[in-house]
Amino acid sequence: MLAEYAVRVENSRGRRHPEPEHPYRTAFQRDRDRVIHARAFRRLEDKTQVFTRRYSDHFRNRLTHTIEVAQITRTVAAALGLNVDLAEALALVHDLGHPPFGHSGEKALDAAMRAHGLFFDHNLHALRIVEDFEQRYAAFRGLNLTFEVREGIIKHSRDYDAAQHPELAEYLLDQRPPLEAQLIDLTDEIGYNTADLDDGFEAHLLTLDQIRSGVPVFEHFFREVEQTYPDAPDKLKFNEALKGVFNRLAGDLITNTQARLKQDGIETLADVRLHKERLAAFSPEVEVQRKQIKDFLYENLYYSPSLAEEKDDAERIVTELFSFWMENPSALPHYYQEKAAQESLPRVVCDYIAGMTDHFIIEQYEKHCGG
Ligand code: MG
Repeated sequence: MLAEYAVRVENSRGRRHPEPEHPYRTAFQRDRDRVIHARAFRRLEDKTQVFTRRYSDHFRNRLTHTIEVAQITRTVAAALGLNVDLAEALALVHDLGHPPFGHSGEKALDAAMRAHGLFFDHNLHALRIVEDFEQRYAAFRGLNLTFEVREGIIKHSRDYDAAQHPELAEYLLDQRPPLEAQLIDLTDEIGYNTADLDDGFEAHLLTLDQIRSGVPVFEHFFREVEQTYPDAPDKLKFNEALKGVFNRLAGDLITNTQARLKQDGIETLADVRLHKERLAAFSPEVEVQRKQIKDFLYENLYYSPSLAEEKDDAERIVTELFSFWMENPSALPHYYQEKAAQESLPRVVCDYIAGMTDHFIIEQYEKHCGG
């Protein structure tokens, strides 16, 4: 069933530490399962996506967002004849490196690091988690994932400059990632763009009229729904219209990527890797619609005054705790104090904070900064 341009597990460049084959699972299936069984994966349950638990228990958190992205990714990857196991593993791991408190936490952590001439990047952090921090096996540190999964962690959403990142040299930075990895950035966006409209509406931070007038593709499907179900409650009309948007984005990603592969004469994985640009993409028309949704969410939800106070709290908590441990390294857990002997203190404090759940960091803040 695999297309010629898909990644084949039998051609994997393998693991850092060779392991015997598993009787029932391929190497990519095992990688997917290793991610699911990782502690960092379980912690996603208590990491903010956009809304904290203050709003409701049925909004997305980073774990349920991740599961939704994996679902979309499996569908798109299968339709394109790609390696679904690899794509699914990459979807499940894609947010593993996110710190607590969503974007605000990431921004504050990066700012704290920049004061020391360093920076925080969630893709690089995810690589550190799977290479080093997860400790499950007696024979090696980390999860010992295949090359293709590690490469996808680094390259799914952005390109890294080889001169700036000599430590990433093994990941073929001069080549495009396989399509299985290219997809993730787009399926991630399909996931959060539709989910954030949904949760924003449910939280009463976005009104139906606001979404209808601000998101043309939503309005298009809403009008159709009004014709078909004129008497349905607004919330169900909303759901049906959002489903239309969702299917348009995912369907277009499939058909447009297929068309581009054909048009550019892409036949093999080497063609994908050596192509001048990424091939997984929305069509120009749907790209405009995608951007309209994203701009709408930035203007009306992510920067909404209702979320401002929570974001300020998040930034203050991360910033103050970072300073606290910089000034009081002996208050760090023993494991991190040992690490500070080998690595710079800001990096160790950053690693510690980045791994925390929302709940745990608030507890630490109350303990050390008098909350
Ligand atoms: Mg994501």
